Amino acid sequence: MVYKLLYALGIWKRNPSLSKHLAFLLESDTWSKEELLEYQLHKCKEFLEFAYTHSAFYQTTFDDYNFKPSEFKDLEQLKQLPTISKMTLIRYNRLIHSSYPFRKNFRALTSGTTGESLAFLKNEEWDSQNRAAMFRGYSWYGVNPADKNGYLWGYNIEPKQTLKIKWLDRLQNRFRIFSYCPEEIKNFAKNLKGAKYLHGYSSMIYEVAKLVNRSGLKIDHDLKMIKGTSEMVFDSYQEEVQKAFGLKILSEYGSAESGLIAFECPEGNMHIALENVIVEEEDGEILVTNMLSKSFPIIRYRLGDMIELADKDFKCDCGRAHPVILNINGRVGVKIIGKTQEFPGRMIYNVIKNLSVEHGIVLNYQARQHIQGIIDLYIEQTEKDSQCILEKELKKYFKNDIDFNIFYGQNLHNMEEKLNDFITTIG
Ligand SMILES: [Zn+2]
Repeated sequence: MVYKLLYALGIWKRNPSLSKHLAFLLESDTWSKEELLEYQLHKCKEFLEFAYTHSAFYQTTFDDYNFKPSEFKDLEQLKQLPTISKMTLIRYNRLIHSSYPFRKNFRALTSGTTGESLAFLKNEEWDSQNRAAMFRGYSWYGVNPADKNGYLWGYNIEPKQTLKIKWLDRLQNRFRIFSYCPEEIKNFAKNLKGAKYLHGYSSMIYEVAKLVNRSGLKIDHDLKMIKGTSEMVFDSYQEEVQKAFGLKILSEYGSAESGLIAFECPEGNMHIALENVIVEEEDGEILVTNMLSKSFPIIRYRLGDMIELADKDFKCDCGRAHPVILNINGRVGVKIIGKTQEFPGRMIYNVIKNLSVEHGIVLNYQARQHIQGIIDLYIEQTEKDSQCILEKELKKYFKNDIDFNIFYGQNLHNMEEKLNDFITTIG
């Protein structure tokens, strides 16, 4: 109770406009597709006009492309504009930032895979509307963000910071693991008593579930939601997590710069928060326009993921009219280099997924490529019964163009960062 009060106070101070935005999103949650699209178009026009007026970068870009936001009346017109990448956001950072004097800004910092980091200002309404979209997702599961929650992020926290983080966690009614040892996990699991949700990297949720199952720990929990972020979810994760907590991991999709793009509904479909973002798909790649990003406008942004959108007429059983992202198919441009040809980076994932669907063989893996034509495949499971069929399946897809070294019984997780299914140092 005290924590809920503290939480409400914290929100009121940090995100004064949040409750207003959440109330709106809870209402638009039941809108028809026509209503949603009409709202989106209107908001997009307003956002484009804002970017044109307040961002030197977009003023120049729109003029160069002879794009007039005042004449915007169809989302298709967005295609007249160029796409931007993380590199654009880094290189033209100062020019992209809008000149509008926001009353309150937050500093955001994200690190890129190539080591370059991106820093930008997020105005309060952006941050609040984004949180509102996330909290709407929570509401689908009967979860209040102020509810007690377990948090599984990187464990690699500097000792100096530990106290500060513990205090911040307490304010958010949150607890986490500070080191990966069985004793800590046990404590974490015990702490789940009274918690309503668990969130973090899905590979770490999986590790905790595994320990809970192995130790036969009886946890008296009342979890309503387990949310995984920014990582693939193996079938085996779901099995283990289901066994430990009776729930499956649901996905939330987005990034700091794009904002929350989609949230999985109880029917298992990822609905796009189209009140906040516009998602385009171009040759399988996602382009995002973040209509909240007024302090640092982000228009037609190449987030770097390959996606698959559901059919226009697709109807989810949950009744929401928000369009659905069926699949996130890995990163753009990641390639497996064979002796004579190249393969999409997602191909190994597909083989492993196929093993599970067609042969009931569930494997956790990580593939690494350092030399052309050779891949090391690390597999967590120890049973080698599947080796023969795995090799056969790999051959079916890759012919003799790749030699696979398969290692069973491997520890895949370093417990510090998210787990990549494919790491390549070539290509
Ligand atoms: Zn749904």
